[in-house]
Amino acid sequence: MKFNTKTIHGGQEHDKAYGAVMPPIYQTSTYAQSTPGEHKGYEYSRTHNPTRNALENSFASIENGNYGLAFGSGLAAIDAVIKLLKPGDEVISTNDLYGGSYRLFTKVFEGFGVKFHFIGMQNASNIEAYVNANTKLIWVETPTNPMMNIIDIKACATIAKKHNLLLAVDNTFATPYLQQPLDLGADIVMHSATKYLGGHSDVVMGALVVKDKELAERLYFIQNASGAICGPQDSFLVLRGIKTLHVRMQRHCENGKHIAEYLVNHPRIEKVYWPGFENHPNHEIAKSQMKDFGGMISFVTKGNSFEEAIKIVEKLKVFTLAESLGGVESLAGHPASMTHASIPKEEREKTGVVDSLIRLSVGIEDIDDLIADLKQAIG
Ligand SMILES: *Cc1c(COP(=O)(O)O)cnc(C)c1O
Repeated sequence: MKFNTKTIHGGQEHDKAYGAVMPPIYQTSTYAQSTPGEHKGYEYSRTHNPTRNALENSFASIENGNYGLAFGSGLAAIDAVIKLLKPGDEVISTNDLYGGSYRLFTKVFEGFGVKFHFIGMQNASNIEAYVNANTKLIWVETPTNPMMNIIDIKACATIAKKHNLLLAVDNTFATPYLQQPLDLGADIVMHSATKYLGGHSDVVMGALVVKDKELAERLYFIQNASGAICGPQDSFLVLRGIKTLHVRMQRHCENGKHIAEYLVNHPRIEKVYWPGFENHPNHEIAKSQMKDFGGMISFVTKGNSFEEAIKIVEKLKVFTLAESLGGVESLAGHPASMTHASIPKEEREKTGVVDSLIRLSVGIEDIDDLIADLKQAIG
């Protein structure tokens, strides 16, 4: 089955009771047993729920994995991955990663004795210097948030295999429409399904997909034991969102390209970060591991003024000033004061998250309206 069919049918079967084409929302916490232990495969909804299972099968299908797991948020999914580790274990992570991931790693898991190294991975050979006997996991985000750095997943997988480490990829920005990390050698794919997979800014959810059965069993154990699951209503919404992922992504990419080109030619703009530019440092890697370049763009205005950046995001009308990304509607954010405020100023400036950086999540509206909105806001 091809990707554009998998989004609609992958892992799905029609409802056994009445043939409903969409899976019913099984709004139940428990399931009747005929005699103790005799049931139809479901006992309690923290462990399994038919609507959630339909979604988990869809996750597995679109990421070319064998096992999918749904969580109450992207961070709950990341939390489950780090719970595979023990005190003393070490993780090598991308340095310009999602602020919430950084907060979870440093403010929660460092307290339990897990050690994190945050490093630049644009050159994957940097990773090996940090590998030691305690290293267990490489955590990669690509494209990175918000600097749109590209990390070579295949090269990371080679290093992970050589040293017997797990490789996890946060595929939230790219989505499986653009990039399929398991096929490039990753062990775990993670999503904030809140973003492109859900696609309509109406639900918070996380996902993991793996190929390996033993790894899947350890993660299912953590999912059930820690209990950070999502409800059946939210499962239904994300399953519905995934059905249009390929058509939405196609438009996100088209609009993204137009806007990146508009911004890069704008006299008041200093720099535009978008992996589709030929002079992007890892453009060739982006071209080889991604199908297209997506709708996430960051830019910095000339003079790097905090006040000017705030004025621009306040003036936007079609773009909504809001955290998050990946919905049908265009959003603008100011990372230094919003998504990345939890990262210390010196740390974030090292990776390029300066005061005037603005991040756009380009939606699927008419491109003319989006360009006109940027024009009136930037001047
Ligand atoms: C939003 C986001 C997360 C966290 O997901 P939530 O669903 O908000 O918990 C993790 N990684 C990336 C890249 C994100 O954009």
